[in-house]
Amino acid sequence: MPSTISALNDLGQGPRQNRRPLLSSLIQRSDYHGLMTALRREGAQGRLTAGQRVRRAANLVNGSTGLGLAVALLAGTEVSCGPRGLILAAGYRWRLPFAGAFTLGNVVLSRCPATDLLSRPALLAHEERHCSQYAWCLGAPFLPLYFLAAGWSLLRTGNPGTGNVFERHAGLEAGGYPPRGTGRRPSHPGPAELEV
Ligand SMILES: [Zn+2]
Repeated sequence: MPSTISALNDLGQGPRQNRRPLLSSLIQRSDYHGLMTALRREGAQGRLTAGQRVRRAANLVNGSTGLGLAVALLAGTEVSCGPRGLILAAGYRWRLPFAGAFTLGNVVLSRCPATDLLSRPALLAHEERHCSQYAWCLGAPFLPLYFLAAGWSLLRTGNPGTGNVFERHAGLEAGGYPPRGTGRRPSHPGPAELEV
């Protein structure tokens, strides 16, 4: 979807944008202008590091962020700009996945309000590491790899996170998973009781 990628690349370039905006061919919802306003505020979120810019560009090009935004819009979430190039999609209500929060590209979808997510820096950092994993996996291939790792973990440890290389890299405790060898959950799993 080159036109979508081009539009996505306009994110964060401030108020000079007059071009046709993000995902315009997909979005027909009444909250479209609210979404665009929120995304254009990204310039106010502070400068991104070179690595964060590369990650954002990678997830734009590989389509995972576009997928995340499409799900966020279809699910009727409230989209806003988060720190470090992340996009927060709050108020997710669909039944699947069974997770308090999950990440698609640079989009972090959560069942809780964005303010709650922002007040939990460890959880947000955990989701941000998944965001980086999408970039390393070139986008969509992350999903089957993740589910394979989760299935392996489930067989080995009884839960989808403890033996899952992606969750271990992202941080087990912040993700609400028991540390290796304990067989128990952390005492304060928070709103992302399980997440992806
Ligand atoms: Zn996770």
